[in-house]
Amino acid sequence: MERQRNNKGQYASDKNFIERFWNKVKKTNTCWLWIGKRRIYGYGVVKYKNKEYSAHRFVWFLTYGKFPKKLVCHKCDNPPCIRPDHLFEGTHKDNIQDAIKKGRMLVGRVSHRRKLTFQQAEEIRKKYIPKQYGGMQKLIKEYGLSKRSIALILKRETYKK
Ligand SMILES: [Zn+2]
Repeated sequence: MERQRNNKGQYASDKNFIERFWNKVKKTNTCWLWIGKRRIYGYGVVKYKNKEYSAHRFVWFLTYGKFPKKLVCHKCDNPPCIRPDHLFEGTHKDNIQDAIKKGRMLVGRVSHRRKLTFQQAEEIRKKYIPKQYGGMQKLIKEYGLSKRSIALILKRETYKK
């Protein structure tokens, strides 16, 4: 008895659920963006039967009728995108390699080579007063950078967030 009632209720709510799911998607010419609740990094969140799922994993389930065993990665590198043909199943390793290939991991690698922190670059911008005598030289000495490096920071060509 209990089971029957559940099944019926479930069927109705599934239909509504799927409708509500697609109401939270904005289709653009390229990506289909999740406009509902998002996690950090922009991944969509879906709550289904009291469990939370990533929207891009859930759309996989809706499309293929099963949850992916592996990670679902984005070909388009756009976390809120849930367009099934922009997604592929991969391992964690694939995901990292994919990220490196697309430059998503570059931030970490570049900052390793950086001489300054973003905060220091910001300091330089604040300290520098154009045409003030010695301003540039002082910064060169203080931070151990070349004139060119400082000029690039001031022009915001480097150390931009
Ligand atoms: Zn996409």
